[in-house]
Amino acid sequence: MIQGISSLSLEKALMDGIQEMVFIVRVEGKGMYYEFLNKSAMKNTAMDISALGKTFRETQAAELADRVEYQYTKVLLNGAQVSYEDSYIHPEGSLRFSKTCLTPMFNDDGDLTHIVSIVQDITNEVKAKQESMEAWKSLEESRTLYYSLFEHNGDAILTLDLDGHIREANPIGQMLSGFTMDELIGRRVIELIVPEDRLRTLKNYHKAKKGIYSNFRITFTQKNRSRIGALVKFIPIKIKDATTGFYVLLKDMRELDQMVELYMESEKNFRIIAENANDVIILIDRKKEYLYISPSIEEVFGFTPDDYKEKPAFHNIHPEDADRLYETLSASIRNREICKVRVRVGHKSGSWIWSDLSGTPVSDDDGKYSHMVMIVRDVSLQKDYETKLEFFAYHDPLTAMPNRRYFRESLENALSRYQTNGGNFAVLLLDIDKFKGINDKWGHETGDAVIREFGRRLEACVGKGDIAARLGGDEFVVLLSRIDSVESGMAAMDKIREAVMQPWELGDIRMTVSTSIGMTMPNGHSTISSILKEADKAMYEEKARKNNKYEQDRL
Ligand code: GH3
Ligand code: MG
Repeated sequence: MIQGISSLSLEKALMDGIQEMVFIVRVEGKGMYYEFLNKSAMKNTAMDISALGKTFRETQAAELADRVEYQYTKVLLNGAQVSYEDSYIHPEGSLRFSKTCLTPMFNDDGDLTHIVSIVQDITNEVKAKQESMEAWKSLEESRTLYYSLFEHNGDAILTLDLDGHIREANPIGQMLSGFTMDELIGRRVIELIVPEDRLRTLKNYHKAKKGIYSNFRITFTQKNRSRIGALVKFIPIKIKDATTGFYVLLKDMRELDQMVELYMESEKNFRIIAENANDVIILIDRKKEYLYISPSIEEVFGFTPDDYKEKPAFHNIHPEDADRLYETLSASIRNREICKVRVRVGHKSGSWIWSDLSGTPVSDDDGKYSHMVMIVRDVSLQKDYETKLEFFAYHDPLTAMPNRRYFRESLENALSRYQTNGGNFAVLLLDIDKFKGINDKWGHETGDAVIREFGRRLEACVGKGDIAARLGGDEFVVLLSRIDSVESGMAAMDKIREAVMQPWELGDIRMTVSTSIGMTMPNGHSTISSILKEADKAMYEEKARKNNKYEQDRL
């Protein structure tokens, strides 16, 4: 036992050779003073020999000095060893952990004269412990993670031993198979799979053994024998690089299959409609690129869908219609409204085909415009018909001359011009003489030919801006729009008479034709009907004169 400071020299020499830090503190009354530090203590703390003879407070930071003094005082009070763990900052700046043992030293009188402190650096042990705590924690976490992945997974998971026997099943696995856990354990997984899919399952099982995992489709049978389509994956369970079994992931595909089926069905329907329709169906995406063009395009426009493939949308629209088309489609996309527009679409032959285009903008799930479905219909026949309808609303079908409505509107314009500007005009009303006789003698068709030829001769007599119209039957009318006197009106009448008197040769038939003409010019009180009435009256007066003459000639 160490007895006094002088007898400590050997021990001091020994103490300098040990790894632990050694401090010897002298106890004097109530004070404690450092009396010895070994080399290790000086190396591992900021203290050196200048600390000798000084108190804790004089050599260390106040907080640490208090902590140390507290432990030493315990030794003083109890006269017994004290051990404690602490941490301190190494002169290099690192945090170190320490374990200290304080031993009291007594003199022969039994007085406590010194306290020896042996401080062990336990930093590595503490860190190892901390790391193992963390490792344990993360192991716990991964266990929990595994548990929640296994137990709460939305898909069925089975674990298999190397022979393919089921060892475990998560709740979904039990539910999907229809078996309880007890019924599943020990059962070979292959038994759950329909016979036709077993070979494929085995192949994938062996592939998984070699580290190639892939999803594959199978049908398995539930306990109640109903069949369920599933997506399966084998994943090896490895412990220290050795495969000890497999996880089997089973995804119930019923819902997805149904959706695919519905999609396929609608896709099929769409194609059936699109490919058999006489209309051309075109889908254009938001980048104005063609997504789909129905084969009927060839029938209607001569081009094949492939001819259109790389072309920009609307490349084949008549330049005069393009702006109108863009505007209509843009508004349709903006307002999410179906639009209709009539445009000319180019035919492969170079002609233009009047087409009705109806466009439906389609939005994606987020409500954003995604594509336009367009149905294009050749309406050239309809357009032709409409043009004809429009034409015959104002023209006579037999002669293609302006009809009564056309004439009436022209007369209204002329009359209002006359009333505002005083621009004079004349109206001539003409009726073929004894036309019934022509019909009777040569037939109705020849009668028609006479009407047509009469119209032609009449039109040849009138000037530009004048109108010759057929009112119906053998009755015609002429609007001479630039007439300044009765005389010039009479001259026009003479010209017509002259033209009608020219020989008539219709095929083999030769005949003479004459007409009675009544002329009128407006005055300040004229109305449409008064003008027509006067012209009619004048015409009948001439006809009556002719009839009288005819009667007289017969007598
Ligand atoms: P008038 O000298 O008094 O005029 O004797 P008209 O025989 O010419 O008698 P009116 O003008 O009254 O008769 C016109 C006839 O024209 C009556 C009708 O049978 C015939 N008609 C009317 N429309 C057509 C037609 O589209 N084609 C033919 N071929 N005949 C028509
Ligand atoms: Mg007549």
